[in-house]
Amino acid sequence: MSAPYAIPRSHADWRAMAESQSFETRAFIDDAFVDAASGETFETINPATGKVLARVASCDAADAEVAVHHARAAFDRGDWSRIAPGRRKKLLLRLADLMETHKHELALLDTLDMGKPVSSSLGDMAGAIACLRYNAESIDKVYGEVAPTGEDSLGLVLREPLGVVASIVPWNFPLMMTAWKIAPALAAGNSVILKPSEKSPLSALRLAQLAKEAGLPQGVFQVLPGFGHTVGKALALSMDVNCLAFTGSTAVGKQLMQYAGQSNLKRVYLECGGKSPNIVFADCKDLDAVAENAAAAIFHNQGEVCIAGSRLLVENAIREDFIERVLKAAEGMQPGDPLNPDSFMGAIVDQTQYQRILGYIRQGVEEGAHLRSGGESVETCPGGLFISPTIFDNVTPEMVIGREEVFGPVLSVFGFDTEEEAIRMANDSLYGLAAGLWSQDIDRIMRVTRRLESGQVYVNNWAGGDMTVPFGGVKQSGNGRDKSMHSLQEYSELKTVWMSLTS
Ligand code: NAD
Repeated sequence: MSAPYAIPRSHADWRAMAESQSFETRAFIDDAFVDAASGETFETINPATGKVLARVASCDAADAEVAVHHARAAFDRGDWSRIAPGRRKKLLLRLADLMETHKHELALLDTLDMGKPVSSSLGDMAGAIACLRYNAESIDKVYGEVAPTGEDSLGLVLREPLGVVASIVPWNFPLMMTAWKIAPALAAGNSVILKPSEKSPLSALRLAQLAKEAGLPQGVFQVLPGFGHTVGKALALSMDVNCLAFTGSTAVGKQLMQYAGQSNLKRVYLECGGKSPNIVFADCKDLDAVAENAAAAIFHNQGEVCIAGSRLLVENAIREDFIERVLKAAEGMQPGDPLNPDSFMGAIVDQTQYQRILGYIRQGVEEGAHLRSGGESVETCPGGLFISPTIFDNVTPEMVIGREEVFGPVLSVFGFDTEEEAIRMANDSLYGLAAGLWSQDIDRIMRVTRRLESGQVYVNNWAGGDMTVPFGGVKQSGNGRDKSMHSLQEYSELKTVWMSLTS
C-alpha cells in the first residue's frame, strides 16, 4: 500500500510536509467528529518553534458522560463485543494497514506536537502498527478452559470482555503508548475511550479518522482530547467505566486508584514512572560500545522516556575512563531540528517540562554533584525548547537528581566497588521499571538479574524487546503489563460455568 503523499526522506521533504499538514481538532464521539459540549478549546504548541499548531476541543465531564453512554450502548449492542474474534481481527488488521499507509503523516503529527525527532517517531509508528497486528492476530487463538472434573459435572472457564475501557495516555510516545493500550482492549471485545495527553492530542484524532475508515462499529472507539483534571478525572470516576488503562506519572497513577475506590472499583492498570539503574561492571569487553549504549539509554527521546537509564552505576575500577567514553558518545547526541531525519534528540515537550528539567540541573549543581557536560538550554531552532545532553558525576543516592525522575536529558553517574553495593544502590529507589546490566560473567549476570527489583532487566543491551515479551513495572512504577499475551489477558474477565450432568 503506497502512501497518498510523496514519501518524505530529506529534511526539506519533512519541512514541506509539515507546512502543508492539516489537523483534525474535534473530539470523536459516537462515530462523529464534534466540538466539546462546552465549546472550549486549548492550544497545542510545536515545542521546536513555540508556534501554535491548532486549537483542540477541550472535553470535560459532560463529554465524558456522553462518550461513556455510547461506549456502553455499543458494548450492549454486541456488534463488536459478541462477534466472532476472527471478525474483530479483520477490522483491526485493516486499521493497522491504514496506519501503515499513513505512517509518515502520523509520525509527523507526533513530532510536531511533542518535539521528538521524526526518525524516532517513525520508529514509534512501526511499534504501534506491530502492536495492532500482534493483538489482532492473537485474539482468535485464545481458548477458554475445561476444568478437570468428575463425570457428573462440566466446569468451563470462559474469557469475556470487561465492558468499557478508558485509556489515559501520556505525551512522550503519543501513538505508541496509545497502541499498547487500545490494541489489546479492542481485540478482546471492549469499547474503548481514549484520552490522549493535552500536550499531544493530534495523532490520536487522526487515528480516530482511520478507525472510522477501517469500519470499527459506532461507539466502539472514541477519542476525548482535554485535560486530566477535567475529562480524565470524569472518566476515572465514572460508574460505568470498567477499567482504566493508564500510562503516566506515579502521582496521577495514585490518584486514579483513589478515583476507582471512590466510584465502582474499576480495574486500574498503571504504567508509571522510573529512575532506572544501568550497571556497568569492569569486565565488559567493548567499553566504547557500552558507553554509546549508556548515553543513548538516557538521551534517546530527550530523556523523556519512562525507562530512561538515568542512573549510571559504574564500577570504580573503570569509572573515570568509562565516563570519558560516555562524554564522547554524548557529543554526537546534541539536539537538532526534529524535522531533520538525522537528529538524535529533539525539543523538550513544553515550557513547564523545560523549566522543570533546568530546575533539576540547578539543584544538582547546588547539591554538589559534578557537572561534566551540558546543563544548558541551546538555540537549536528559533523559539524552540532544547537542552543539551547533561552528565553529572559524583552523584549520591541522597541527592534529588539521583532519586527523582527528571524526565529530561540528565544522567547521574554513581560509583560502586562491589557487586553487593551495586545491587543495593540499584534497588534503592521507589521505582522498579527497568534495569540494565553489562558484564561478560554469566554467573554474575544471573546472580544480579535475580535480585534486581525491576519489571525489565536488560542484559548487555538497553531497552531490548518486541511484542512477544511483556512490559511493565514493579514497586511505584505500576502494576500493569503492556504487550504480549499477558496484556491481552488483562482486558478480559474470567467467567466460571459449572454444569451438573445427569447420567
Ligand atoms: P501525567 O501523569 O501528567 O499524565 C498522563 C495522562 O494522565 C495525561 O493524559 C493526563 O492528562 C492524564 N491526567 C493527569 N491528571 C489526571 C487526573 N487527575 N485524572 C485523570 N487523568 C489525569 O504524565 P505525563 O507527563 O503525560 O507523562 C510522563 C510520565 O509518564 C512519566 O512519569 C513517565 O515515566 C510516565 N510513562 C510511563 C510509561 C510506562 O510504560 N511505565 C511510559 C511512558 C511514560
